[in-house]
Amino acid sequence: MRILVVEDEKNLREQLVTALQKKGYSVDAAADGQEGLYYGNEFPYDVAIIDLGLPKLNGIDLIRALRGEQRNFPILVLTARAQWQDKVAGLEAGADDYVVKPFVMEEVLARLNALIRRSAGHARPVLEIGPIVLDTASQSVTVNGAAIELTTYEYKVLEYLMLRPGEVVSKTVLTEHIYAQDFDRDSNTLEVFVGRLRRKLDPDNVLKPIETLRGRGYRFALEA
Ligand code: CA
Repeated sequence: MRILVVEDEKNLREQLVTALQKKGYSVDAAADGQEGLYYGNEFPYDVAIIDLGLPKLNGIDLIRALRGEQRNFPILVLTARAQWQDKVAGLEAGADDYVVKPFVMEEVLARLNALIRRSAGHARPVLEIGPIVLDTASQSVTVNGAAIELTTYEYKVLEYLMLRPGEVVSKTVLTEHIYAQDFDRDSNTLEVFVGRLRRKLDPDNVLKPIETLRGRGYRFALEA
């Protein structure tokens, strides 16, 4: 999952980035509204966190601009308690949910999870497709009830594909979603992750959960 954080308070921004990275998100962080707009238009995010009080371009105008450019990823707004009217303005501008400052990190993480699930059309935190069960809250995976140990990147690849069963996901899209912008991207490493995932999920090569479509990408091939 790739996430954009737009927050001008340095400490808060860094706390968010650290907490989100720990949860396995790829995080890009912007310190003002203009930078946020650049990132938001440039990269395919799964979700964004936008503070409303931002220099250069305020959060409301940033959200309006992104929605005007058809950027439809879910947006969680951060708003100061004293400016409760802002949350209404934020939602009207196109945000999906809000958290009032000061907040506890768990609340932000829980709301993000809910936004991502809703935007992908899933109401439950657990994805169960065939014998494979992926719990988006605990980031754990089982096959036929047996726990499978995955690395962060392997998990990210599997989650992204399982949120879109039957859909072809190109290597470019998958790579952009699992790596943060400053990471040295290489589609060869994606092939390695997919190869390892297949061996872990399906050591006997009978399930074939992840299909390769030559020149097009990957597809989660099991049916719900
Ligand atoms: Ca601010």
